[in-house]
Amino acid sequence: MKVKVVAVIGAGTMGAGIAQICAQRGWRTKIFDTSESSLQNSLKNINSFWEKGILRGKTTRDQLISWSENLETHNDIAKAVSNADIVIEAVPEILSLKKEIFSELDNILPEKTILVTNTSSLSISEIANSTNRPDRVIGMHFFNPVPIMKLIEIVRHEKCSKETIKIAEYVGLELNKKTILVNDYPGFATSRLGVILGNEAIKMLSEGVASASDIDTAMVLGYKHPIGPLELTDLVGLDVRRDILNNLANSFSDDSYLPHPLLEKLVENGNLGIKTNKGIYNWNNGVKQDRNDL
Ligand code: NAD
Repeated sequence: MKVKVVAVIGAGTMGAGIAQICAQRGWRTKIFDTSESSLQNSLKNINSFWEKGILRGKTTRDQLISWSENLETHNDIAKAVSNADIVIEAVPEILSLKKEIFSELDNILPEKTILVTNTSSLSISEIANSTNRPDRVIGMHFFNPVPIMKLIEIVRHEKCSKETIKIAEYVGLELNKKTILVNDYPGFATSRLGVILGNEAIKMLSEGVASASDIDTAMVLGYKHPIGPLELTDLVGLDVRRDILNNLANSFSDDSYLPHPLLEKLVENGNLGIKTNKGIYNWNNGVKQDRNDL
């Protein structure tokens, strides 16, 4: 199967990144979101990434123009997905919402179209079973920031066909990513470990073990992590991590996965991380500062 047209559902942090690399690959890329401001922000962020690339000599003006021409935004889902060879969903980590969208996509799209979810933790099988084509539904878990991170975790479920797995691997390769194949298990091979580390670091912060920046430096210099667990939580989004922890607690029936109360409090106050300029750290033009009001 050759991919020519991709539709991305959800224009947030991940949807924008996924749309960006699809457009760079030369695919016609149609982004759908229910929020007009998310659609506009996604284009702004993608463009600013490419402009920075020009300043660094990594991108040419001609490339920017040709990649931009591959991008379209839509506020009508049927128009966004028409003619798509593959649809990649990146809406919030809420099972009922994803199932509703997959069921709608299943009704609109021809049987051959492959449906992909970028969920970080939810059951691919449950999402697939909300359609009449579970064999053509698969998980492709991209990482943030999508244009930079090399990995895609391909998540297969029991009804997923071999051909669908091959197509997901082909898409990953075309997008210049390294793919790994994992089974449909809560939190897959990445999120489960990632959120536990982040949640525990938030617990340590609330216990006064050290400042956020010192906890992060401990893991960067002491354990060779490329980024500390608290900074990573701000990068991913505190709401996203909170949702993943709740999903894991629910899937494993184990309260030890529940988000720490400090994480809950920050999300309730709208402190979602870099995307709101305030999370575990204060963020000012990409520079982080410890907060003294936590
Ligand atoms: P986000 O909050 O940045 O973006 C979600 C977008 O979905 C928003 O623009 C919102 O307007 C839109 N949306 C909400 N309801 C919609 C609907 N019914 N139809 C279309 N659009 C709708 O979230 P995100 O960080 O991009 O995460 C999206 C998904 O990607 C989640 O499943 C998350 O677990 C997963 N993920 C996130 C990260 C990360 O680091 N943030 C990494 C890997 C995977």
